[in-house]
Amino acid sequence: MKTITQDILIIGSGAGGATLAHELSRQGLRRITVLEQGIRTQEVGTFARALRFYDCNPVTMLPKHTEEGVILWRTLMAGGSTVAALANIVPSMEQELRAFGIDLAPLWQEIIDEMEAVPLDESLISDGSRAIAQAARGLGIEFRPMPKAINAKKCVQCAVCPTGCPFNAKWSALQAVDQAAANGVEFRLGAQVKQILIENGTARGVQVQTTDGLYLLEAERVVVAAGGIGTAQLLRRSGVENAGHSLFMDLFVSVVGVHRSLNLLNEPSMAMVCDQFHREHGFILSPYMPVHRLSAFAEFGLPGLALPRKHLLGLMVKTRDDMAGEVFPDGRVSKRLTKADQQRLAQGTAVAREVLAAAGVSKPSILVSKPQGAHPGGTAALGQVVDEHLQVKGVNGLYVCDASVLPHAPGLPPIMTIVALAKWFARSAVFHPPTGRRVLTGN
Ligand SMILES: Cc1cc2nc3c(=O)[nH]c(=O)nc-3n(C[C@H](O)[C@H](O)[C@H](O)COP(=O)(O)OP(=O)(O)OC[C@H]3O[C@@H](n4cnc5c(N)ncnc54)[C@H](O)[C@@H]3O)c2cc1C
Repeated sequence: MKTITQDILIIGSGAGGATLAHELSRQGLRRITVLEQGIRTQEVGTFARALRFYDCNPVTMLPKHTEEGVILWRTLMAGGSTVAALANIVPSMEQELRAFGIDLAPLWQEIIDEMEAVPLDESLISDGSRAIAQAARGLGIEFRPMPKAINAKKCVQCAVCPTGCPFNAKWSALQAVDQAAANGVEFRLGAQVKQILIENGTARGVQVQTTDGLYLLEAERVVVAAGGIGTAQLLRRSGVENAGHSLFMDLFVSVVGVHRSLNLLNEPSMAMVCDQFHREHGFILSPYMPVHRLSAFAEFGLPGLALPRKHLLGLMVKTRDDMAGEVFPDGRVSKRLTKADQQRLAQGTAVAREVLAAAGVSKPSILVSKPQGAHPGGTAALGQVVDEHLQVKGVNGLYVCDASVLPHAPGLPPIMTIVALAKWFARSAVFHPPTGRRVLTGN
C-alpha cells in the first residue's frame, strides 16, 4: 500500500468540501488534497444520464429509498449534490449557529456577490407559475420569485435543472473546484475513502480506494465533507460511534394536478417561493412538477407514468422535519416520519391543493407523491458529534464541514448556509491560531 503525506485532506467536493478547499487555497495554504468518490461529467441534462450520478438502487436503477420508503435524492460526483441542485440560494440557521459562536451574518453578501444570486428574472417565470401565484394571492398567500444563482442570459428555460444544467446557467460547487485547482489544490476523483485512521484519539489519515488500488494518505488534518449521509457512514465505519443517530432531510412531497392549458415545462424548477408558513407551520411552497416521465414514476409510482406533463401544474411542499433518523455504517438510511412531520406535510398539502384548485387545476386529478428528501443533514450535529470548532469530539485533527453539522433541519435550501459555514471554518482559529502563526507548514 502506498503512503502519501499531506497537510489537509478534505473528503468530498460538494458545497462544503469544494468551498473549503477554495477558501483555504485562496489564503495561501498548500498541500491540500480533496478526495472525491465520484467522477466529473459534462453529460448532464436528461434523467437517463442523471441516473449515472444519482445514488441509485442497483436493481431498480432509480434513486434509493430509506428503509421506510422515503425517496433519497443525492448525487455522488465532483461538485456533489450542487450539480443537481436548483440553484435556490437562501440564508438560514443564522441564530442557531450563532448559539455555537459561529457568525454567518457577515458572509451572506459575499456569497450573493460571488454566486450572482438574485430573485429569478421575471422573464424566466412560466405562465403556469404566474397562474399559481395569482390564484394564491386571491387566497391571501404570497409567492415571489425564488432567489437563485442562475444566469438569465444563459438559461433556456428547459426545466431540466435537477439533472444538471447542460448550458452552465446555474451555479454549482464545480466553480469552487476549478478555482481551488487553479490555486494548486489536488483533486482526486474516483477516490473513495473507506476509513479514517484514528490512533490514540488523533486522526492520522485515511484509507482510500482508487482504480489504481488502495492508498494510505496521512495528513495533519482530515476534514470530512462527504454530505449528510456519506459523512455519517464514514465516521461510524471509523469508530465515531455517536455519529449518524439523527437525520433531517427537509422532507417534501410534490402535489400535482391536471390543468386544461398550463404547465411548468418552460422555467427553471422552483421558480417562485411562498415562505409565509415557514416560521409558524414549518413548510414552504414552490411551483414544481416532475419534468421527466421516469422522475414522475419515481415520485408517484405507476400513476406517474400517465401524468399529462403538458397539462400539469404542481407545488412542492417542503418541510422542516424532525431529526428522527439514522445512517448506518453500511450506508442504509432510516427516516421515520414523526407525527409532527406528518402533520406539517398534511397541512402544507392541504394549502397546496387549495391553491392549485384556485389556479384551475381539476380537483379529482390531484395526486400527492411519496415523501422525499434532497437535503440530508444533522448526522454529525454541532454540540452532539462536533464541537464549536467543527472538530469531532474526542478526536484531534478530525473535522466535519458539510450539512451534517447543522443542529436541526433548516426547512429551506441549505447550500448558502453550508457555503457560509465552510468560509467561516476556513477563516477560523483552526487554520489561523490566535498567535498568528500558522499551524500548517505549507511549502
Ligand atoms: C435534486 C436536488 C436539488 C437541490 N436543490 C437545492 C437548491 O436549489 N438549493 C439548495 O440550497 N440546496 C439544494 N439541494 C441540496 C444541496 O445540493 C445539498 O444540501 C448540498 O449539496 C449538501 O452539501 P454537502 O457539502 O453537505 O454535501 P454534497 O454536496 O452532497 O457533497 C458530498 C460529496 O462527498 C462525496 N463523498 C461521499 N462519501 C465519500 C467518500 N467515502 N469518499 C469520497 N467522497 C465521498 C460525494 O460523492 C459528494 O460529492 C438539492 C439537492 C438535490 C439532490
